[in-house]
Amino acid sequence: MHKKATDQRLQAHRAVRPISYSADWYCKATHYPLQLPHTVKKETGINLHHLRLGYRCMTEIKTRNEMTCEHCQETTREPLLHYLLKCPVTTDLRHLTGTRQDIDPLDEEAIIAAIEIIREATDSHTEILIQIIESHPPQR
Ligand SMILES: [Zn+2]
Repeated sequence: MHKKATDQRLQAHRAVRPISYSADWYCKATHYPLQLPHTVKKETGINLHHLRLGYRCMTEIKTRNEMTCEHCQETTREPLLHYLLKCPVTTDLRHLTGTRQDIDPLDEEAIIAAIEIIREATDSHTEILIQIIESHPPQR
């Protein structure tokens, strides 16, 4: 690797505000750093990176029991997939990313669709994604 390229990567890395260890790791590992404006709240940045990582909420990790969505009161065993694929608070994201509105979080295609939503929204609709996460964060 050329020294100049390495220096440029290091500079780019330092310009990105580190949000969390895992998010920082992910950005480096994927060579896809997400540079958030400094006006974005730390909590929002963490939530956004959790979505990019496919990070499941603690209740989902610990129990796998049904839980109630705090935004729409629907019960689900897949809070992360519910949030991205079904919850009314993310309807605009599905429209903007051309995602069908009728994908069930338990369907086989759900995970791929959720990844595509978050990737497309991050690439092309970052400001709207940030607004949605700020006003209606995913379950923690
Ligand atoms: Zn919901």
